Amino acid sequence: MLTYSVGPEERQHRQGRDRVKKARDLRKLGEERCFFQVLSGATVGPAALAVMKRQKPIKCNWCHLDVVPTLHHVTWDCKGLQQERCHILGCYADIENREELQKRFGWPGRRAPLNDESHECILRWLSCVRKKTLDARYSQ
Ligand SMILES: [Zn+2]
Repeated sequence: MLTYSVGPEERQHRQGRDRVKKARDLRKLGEERCFFQVLSGATVGPAALAVMKRQKPIKCNWCHLDVVPTLHHVTWDCKGLQQERCHILGCYADIENREELQKRFGWPGRRAPLNDESHECILRWLSCVRKKTLDARYSQ
């Protein structure tokens, strides 16, 4: 009988392929919640938008502190969104050990199994932040 062992490169390739498939599956779940826009990086934070428009950086809409409202700040550090962040993320609110790719784009990270519900929760929160930044942008 022929046995086939998988080397580290093949294993890494398979893991990457499985993550892409999981990201695609998550996108289908949240079409109305703009999961695709988050997964594809089509989210711009308030600070980046101000730079793009050659405007002075604005204060954060939610905590009103004198901080640069980067997408990372609004998504993960803003005290004004702390309660909502904890509500949506629940026990997954501590994202310190998550990969940057997941924190920014919501791609399923390698530090949790692919079937872990945290992947969808994080993507749902990123999608919520995208909606909030767009609402704030167009209500001004
Ligand atoms: Zn803030």
